[in-house]
Amino acid sequence: MNVVIFGPPGAGKGTQAQNIAKKFDLLQLSTGDLLRNEIKNKSEIGKEIDEIISKGDFATDDIVNKLIANIIFDPKKKNKLIFDGYPRSLSQAKNLNVLLKNSNQKIDFIFFLNVKKDTIIKRIERRKILEKRSDDDLNTILKRYDNYMETTRPVLDFYSKNPNFYEIDGSEKIEVISSKIEQIITL
Ligand code: AMP
Repeated sequence: MNVVIFGPPGAGKGTQAQNIAKKFDLLQLSTGDLLRNEIKNKSEIGKEIDEIISKGDFATDDIVNKLIANIIFDPKKKNKLIFDGYPRSLSQAKNLNVLLKNSNQKIDFIFFLNVKKDTIIKRIERRKILEKRSDDDLNTILKRYDNYMETTRPVLDFYSKNPNFYEIDGSEKIEVISSKIEQIITL
């Protein structure tokens, strides 16, 4: 089973992806984590990525597509993936379909965590204190939200036509959201 968790920054994608991964023995594929790893490991593209992420912009499709391709084609990870933070653009969504098709896989569930802008801002400001992420200050949050509306939101129209698309109120408590997702998966 492969799952996509989709939604604005601060919607709780990472938290829910972690929970589902544990519950259903899947692997969380967070492109944000993969990019932060490149920065931490001071890889060749790490410095470039650092500058992009700190400003609240998106890494290029090229960089991210390469990072996920290796994982999708890894036989040990086949049909075990939860996509968290990918796709973030229409071209990434189309790329994901191609990669999955070429590796004889598909997306079984798409969950859209819907959260309003003011809730997102409050949540991310709280997260900044806990996780000390360089892209969690107010101006960067606003930029990330604008980028989401402009570049990522069109993915919603692309996915919402699928019969396996589910919209979930992301402003509810973590446990409530987790149990809704679990129910849908196990139906
Ligand atoms: P996240 O951990 O999902 O909140 O991602 C943190 C940051 O990493 C985002 O604000 C983007 O700058 C970058 N990022 C993560 N995933 C992607 C992606 N699929 N495409 C482009 N940039 C990404």
